[in-house]
Amino acid sequence: MTEAKDQQFDYNEQKRSQALRDYNMASTTGEIQFDALAELAQTICDTEIALISFIDNDRQWFKSKIGLDLTETLKIYSFCQYTIKGDEVYEVRDATKEHLFRNNPLVTGDPYIRFYAGAPLRTFTGYRMGTLCVIDSRPKSLTKQQKRSLALLADQVVDQMELKRSLAKQMEISEQKEKLALMVSHQFRNPVTAIQSNMELIKLSIRELTSETEIDILSYCEKINEQTKDMVDMLDDVLLFGQITSASSDKKLKSIGVQAFCKKIVNDMNVSRADRRKAQLDLAKHPLSIEADERELSHVIKNLLSNAFKYSSESPVLKVSPKKGHLVNIEIKDKGIGIPKNEQEFLFQPYFRASNVRGIMGTGLGLSITKELIQNNGGEIDITSSSNKGTTAIITLPTTKNTQS
Ligand code: ATP
Ligand code: MG
Repeated sequence: MTEAKDQQFDYNEQKRSQALRDYNMASTTGEIQFDALAELAQTICDTEIALISFIDNDRQWFKSKIGLDLTETLKIYSFCQYTIKGDEVYEVRDATKEHLFRNNPLVTGDPYIRFYAGAPLRTFTGYRMGTLCVIDSRPKSLTKQQKRSLALLADQVVDQMELKRSLAKQMEISEQKEKLALMVSHQFRNPVTAIQSNMELIKLSIRELTSETEIDILSYCEKINEQTKDMVDMLDDVLLFGQITSASSDKKLKSIGVQAFCKKIVNDMNVSRADRRKAQLDLAKHPLSIEADERELSHVIKNLLSNAFKYSSESPVLKVSPKKGHLVNIEIKDKGIGIPKNEQEFLFQPYFRASNVRGIMGTGLGLSITKELIQNNGGEIDITSSSNKGTTAIITLPTTKNTQS
């Protein structure tokens, strides 16, 4: 094979393994729909054996098998590896007469293959993941009609796979929706109740309007404002989570000066905080730029800052510093309640909230979204934390080369 062909082959191999994982074919065996199709192939082609087989990097395994005890073989001995190189039915009439197969242990030993015919299982996106094949210990050949039937049955196998995959996807989506609905109704109950009671207090105060009740009214309004803001933040997370899990977002990469970008976010957040706490900045002097989606990066930083405020009574610090290897670290540090060590591994799972939260509101979606968005932009996130001491989240992103020595 030429180098270009080699590369093409490797690429196809990778794509095929990926497609197999997508269809989740490895984990399930012995499904009735597939067995029925294999049996039909065996009957129509009049052979001892019929198989639905999938091919991975180094092995071939059987999703359905009629007339054979083996569950898998090494790929190097598989006849099907040749079938998946093309789109047509591949036929070997007498394996003892073909130099490719003559010394194959499946020919010289059990099951003494002589005849083989296989039709590739070709997905709608064009990957050949395996075969529907028929095998016999006597030399033979298929009629034109039998070959056509084998190919049609192979298409039916792929249709079944597609059907199973879309069913699994639908189930996953409806599970996610149920979880979201539960979480949203649970998390929104508190702020909505608080807003209602503050409204009642405002009504009462207006009835007996004095200079004192005027001050009370202002403080009730401020509380309503805070509660509404929390709800809007949570809604943002819910919407973004929906977008990330449903489809690829249309990302707009832009060159971003990290220091100015972070400064603006911190200033905006500081101005709008009702409790008057202010995040501090510690910015490297040397300008650092990155290529990223502004909206996504801004959401990430706001999310981490909002955690740093929410789970601490002091003010957080946002630090920007260069890192070796054309990277930049954006570090958000708080001296708050910290996260118990044994729960830290779950932080990036959707809906996970550690036992430290007690009454503090949240959806548990923030960090899972944050991680996804950072990875979308070519970066990584790491969180270190210790109970009652505080938490530090470090985002590492690649810089645009000419901004860093
Ligand atoms: P939201 O979706 O509203 O952000 P959340 O803050 O609960 O909700 P995440 O941001 O995903 O969700 O955080 C997950 C959990 O990690 C939190 O519930 C909390 O237990 C813990 N956590 C995250 N950041 C911190 C922090 N800075 N200090 C202490 N605990 C934290
Ligand atoms: Mg959060």
